[in-house]
Amino acid sequence: MVNILPSPDSSPLTTEERYRLLAENSSEIVYQTQGLDISWIAPSVTRVLGWEPHELIGQPAVKLISQHQDRTWVDANRIKLERGEDVSQEMLLNAKDGGDKWFSGVAHPIQGDDGSLQGFIVSMRDIDQKVRTRKKLQESEQKFRAAMVNAAVAVALTDANDRIIDVNEAMVRFLGRSAKELRGLKMDDLATPEDPESDAALFDELMSGKRESYRTTTITERLDGKTYFGDLNISTVRDEDGQVTWIINQILDITEQVGVRQRLVQMATIDSTTGLLNRASIVERLEESIRETLSWGGNIAVLLVDVDRFRSINDSLGHAAGDQILAELGERFERAVGKRAIVGRYGGDEFLLIIPGAGTERELANVVGQVTAAVGQEFTIAERRVVLTASLGASFHTPLTSALGMIQEAAVALTEAKRQGRAQLQVFDTVLSNAARYRLQVEQELREAIDRKEFVVYYQPIIKLETFQPIANEALVRWNHPTDGLTGPVTFIEIAEESGLILGIGRQVLEQVCRDIKTSTALKGKVAVNVSAVELSDPGWLDSALAIITESGIDPRRLTIEITETAVLSTGRDIKTDLAILRNLGIGLMVDDFGTGFSSISLLRDLPLTGLKLDRSFVDKMLNVDGPENKLAQGLAQLADALNIHGVAEGIESQEQAIALRDMGWTYGQGYHFARPAPLVEN
Ligand code: C2E
Ligand code: CA
Ligand code: CA
Repeated sequence: MVNILPSPDSSPLTTEERYRLLAENSSEIVYQTQGLDISWIAPSVTRVLGWEPHELIGQPAVKLISQHQDRTWVDANRIKLERGEDVSQEMLLNAKDGGDKWFSGVAHPIQGDDGSLQGFIVSMRDIDQKVRTRKKLQESEQKFRAAMVNAAVAVALTDANDRIIDVNEAMVRFLGRSAKELRGLKMDDLATPEDPESDAALFDELMSGKRESYRTTTITERLDGKTYFGDLNISTVRDEDGQVTWIINQILDITEQVGVRQRLVQMATIDSTTGLLNRASIVERLEESIRETLSWGGNIAVLLVDVDRFRSINDSLGHAAGDQILAELGERFERAVGKRAIVGRYGGDEFLLIIPGAGTERELANVVGQVTAAVGQEFTIAERRVVLTASLGASFHTPLTSALGMIQEAAVALTEAKRQGRAQLQVFDTVLSNAARYRLQVEQELREAIDRKEFVVYYQPIIKLETFQPIANEALVRWNHPTDGLTGPVTFIEIAEESGLILGIGRQVLEQVCRDIKTSTALKGKVAVNVSAVELSDPGWLDSALAIITESGIDPRRLTIEITETAVLSTGRDIKTDLAILRNLGIGLMVDDFGTGFSSISLLRDLPLTGLKLDRSFVDKMLNVDGPENKLAQGLAQLADALNIHGVAEGIESQEQAIALRDMGWTYGQGYHFARPAPLVEN
């Protein structure tokens, strides 16, 4: 460092010498005027502007001011000086080489004894660098704002405290709020960094000038409830003193990419309820296993395990209890099968086991036995003891099946296992595959049949056994198949129920029944309509049925609904309120196929029943007079009596049966002996 001034103790300089040195070496310009003309100017002006003092002395002070400088302030400043006040002013001064430079000046008035302005002393500091930086900044700010407005990328300008000053249209769209709403809010709250800790560190580095920009991933929870992900790029703009004037936040919408990334992450993760491999990863493992197996020519099997009636566990004990059972099951499976199989949760109450090396049912037996035993072990949940069973579907790898193909085949086998009464294993083979194909075909045809309204209703009379007079009818659906002709429900009802298509069929049946009640004179008394468990369990069924009934304009008391005993037992939802609503309208309610299920008397008492129908199988076996069926049939007639509801015996094919049933106490009967189901004929 160069010391301009000798140190005070070693140099006994006079005041004038000091002053001269200072004046020559200073970067300031100091001058004095007499009136408005320069009367004295410090020699430093030569260094600063290039002028020799004598070139300026005697000239008007305003001559120093650049012609590029607007001078509107000159008069105002003079008035202030005349009043005896100091003035300060930024101005552009002429350099001798023709350039100009910015100075910040302070003028101090020199007053005569009468207070009039004699002249002034001005000292001016070079601020050229500073002003030019500032101007450039202002220019770039303007340019930047102009560019920002139309940018496709979302931009927000924030101050050093992260408060929003301005946003562009793209940012308004990204954040889902208007520019007016956004102004003043903290950017951080609107687009929150995914990793706040590392963001805070980066932000500190940015503010301290250690870095000029950084990127981070942000999460935006919009007011409409949707979540958006952004790739935020933050950079600073600093003023001439290096202070942060604003922060530029640019956000790229990466919501879609993040979605993909999260899905990828999920694929690698574990099911949180059971701690087992989740669906995606167990499928991936199966693919791997298939690849490995193919390379050495071994076998591989999959076993799909579905807990029977799991829904009723959830309904009665709650989802937390359901989850607890699933978690425990997962543990038991892993413990039971050890290294013989890989266990994953396939979804809901379904588990998928990969069993390498198994190529025949016999080779599966071990694992199947262990799985069945693991399910069958009692659970204690919420102080309740629960015993479960599971249905199992298995399939083996063939050179042509993919992982998903194998699982699909196992699922077909599983459906078959459930259909055959649950709690058993079915193995996928060609017989099953044909059955599956047949079912799919019927399902497809049923879909079209619903669209084309191919269903018709037949009626079978219900007879009073004392008089043999018809008093009511049962509606029985028939499918007018385009090629097979008229088809009874046994061929399609089950498939319709499993696929949910029964809802559409039931609607058409009810519509036609209501229409017939309204218009036919042949249809006397009540009409009984069959409703399946699937329909009863559907949350929309009641509303849809009520709509059909009210729109038809019939008296609801003309209707009776028949639900099978097993349907009453198996519906998951609490259907009692639905049934009460129907009863309140005067609609009858019968339990169908009575005697085949295992419903308790209390169940009958709890439901608002109007009747029960003795299952045909009892009537079939009636000829054996002392058989147990007869005793039961007699007992059930007394039960109906005791409950004060109608008893109807179904499937009466002979006069003897009719009389025997009447003698047992059955009031009503139905069967081929009286009439077969038939279409309505108007008389
Ligand atoms: P279900 O409700 O028990 O109906 C009585 C069945 O017994 C009818 O068979 C009827 O034709 C038959 N049947 C009547 N009298 C005799 C007889 O003397 N001897 C013999 N062997 N059979 C007799 P269908 O019409 O084939 O209906 C079969 C089942 O399909 C019905 O059993 C019912 O559960 C169901 N179903 C019929 N229509 C509908 C419907 O519209 N919706 C629903 N969900 N199920 C229906
Ligand atoms: Ca029936
Ligand atoms: Ca029946």
